Amino acid sequence: MNMNKMMFKTHIAFGFLVGLLLIQLWSPNNQILFIMAVLLGSALPDIDHPESKVGKKVKIAGFLFEHRGFFHSIFAALILYLVLLSFSSFAVYSVYITGLVMGYLSHILIDAVTKEGIMPFHPLSRFRLNGFIRTGRVLEYIILAVLIAFDAWKLIKMY
Ligand SMILES: [Zn+2]
Repeated sequence: MNMNKMMFKTHIAFGFLVGLLLIQLWSPNNQILFIMAVLLGSALPDIDHPESKVGKKVKIAGFLFEHRGFFHSIFAALILYLVLLSFSSFAVYSVYITGLVMGYLSHILIDAVTKEGIMPFHPLSRFRLNGFIRTGRVLEYIILAVLIAFDAWKLIKMY
């Protein structure tokens, strides 16, 4: 079943690329932990989707929130950021928290190229950003292949 959800692997492939770029930019001490945080963040927004990898485990979120509503908004990212920051008393973790939130934003960003799009200011505004990519179809697989190629290229260049 597809239900207008971009594939988990596409979000991971894009999150991985964002993670590598941020490692170059911010040089976190623990690069593995950092990339894991970014990948976790890039999977999280689909918690609002009962058929998604994350949503299956937290079914209640999918019933309470419409898919690509609040959890796909910049407000959700901001709240997540503030909550995580307030829980971590050690500033040393802030780079990993920022990485996780950047992963979260990467998910929203790439969902914006799909036909269904996203509402970045939900629930304040139903303004929608969308593209022409139909999820789970051939174009998404092409995007996935390009992302994996970029991931590999970046990885080889860096290490
Ligand atoms: Zn999504």
